[in-house]
Amino acid sequence: MSLRLLLLSCLLSCCAWSHAAGSAAKPRNVVLVTLDGVRVQEMFGGADIAVMKHLARGAPLDGNASYQRYWAPSAEERRARIMPFLWGTLLRQHAWIAGDPAKRSHVEVTNRFHTSYPGYAEILTGRAHDEVIVDNKEQRIPVPTVLEFARRELQLPRSAVAAFSSWDLTNSFAEQEPGTITLNAGFAAYASGDPALRALSAAQDEMVAWDGSRFDYITERFALDYLKRERPRLLYVLLGDTDEVAHDGRYELLLQSLRHADHFLEELWTQLQAMPQYRDNTVLIVTADHGRGKTPDFWGSHDEEIEAAKNIWLVVAAPDDARRGELEGGPTLYQNQIAATIAKALGLDFDRAYPEAGKPIDLHSTP
Ligand SMILES: [Zn+2]
Repeated sequence: MSLRLLLLSCLLSCCAWSHAAGSAAKPRNVVLVTLDGVRVQEMFGGADIAVMKHLARGAPLDGNASYQRYWAPSAEERRARIMPFLWGTLLRQHAWIAGDPAKRSHVEVTNRFHTSYPGYAEILTGRAHDEVIVDNKEQRIPVPTVLEFARRELQLPRSAVAAFSSWDLTNSFAEQEPGTITLNAGFAAYASGDPALRALSAAQDEMVAWDGSRFDYITERFALDYLKRERPRLLYVLLGDTDEVAHDGRYELLLQSLRHADHFLEELWTQLQAMPQYRDNTVLIVTADHGRGKTPDFWGSHDEEIEAAKNIWLVVAAPDDARRGELEGGPTLYQNQIAATIAKALGLDFDRAYPEAGKPIDLHSTP
């Protein structure tokens, strides 16, 4: 071995050693956020002119508030008006996004139903359960979730794996064995040392929100407080306003709720980067449980009959992944790969425990 080669190999092994030692000293964290039923059309194209025209029923769009606020000639400008943090900061500096059909990138659900519970079950267990989970009826998830898997495999305290959700049905699908993880869903009270949050928790009982769901703002405040105080290794935040307003046919509110979701992502990312445990040591995954119809008649709907509702999108910020912005081309990614990807980011092998689950997405890349 030449001196140069010796030096090089020493350098390489030193790097490998310090990397291994670094990750042993500072175990990775994962934060998963889902935005219920957000279409690829708004995610990649911003405000959809065909939908706005359809809803205006022939009236000129000039006086339309959503049009004034969010319309721009190019898709890039339009989407950045709705999600300025996602497109202007996160995807430029830290993350990639897959699923834009215009870039030949595709992310799909594998369940047949294109509905919330089947989608969340697929995200959290790594596979569709089409024989059992066919709609949003209340039933206990039939197998352990990746949240439970992570807690057991890493022998973490219950506080270290937490889910905050706007939807009460999350109580049925976040864990197979009730009490395995920290779970706050629907209108559940939240105990905090912060009097403002205690007041917000109490106020939930006085609010008429959605059927079975509270407003995302409340879920977000609780989740951010919990993150700061309890510093979980694995945090899941399920937001639902986007789906509720879409079912109500309120396109202007859909755009507003996406705008709010973007603000939450900004707050979340800023808080993560401000805490030594999380800074540059956290895998952030943002995705949707299902898409919706693509035509102006069906933009609010999603079910088994609506083929386009299988199309979703996926944002990933990972410390070892140098990819930024929109992925172009590449193999189709599937919703059933998310559970194994979360497990792998935490150093766990989901495939060994659940070989029928989707395989992890590789989150190592150089520019
Ligand atoms: Zn829905």
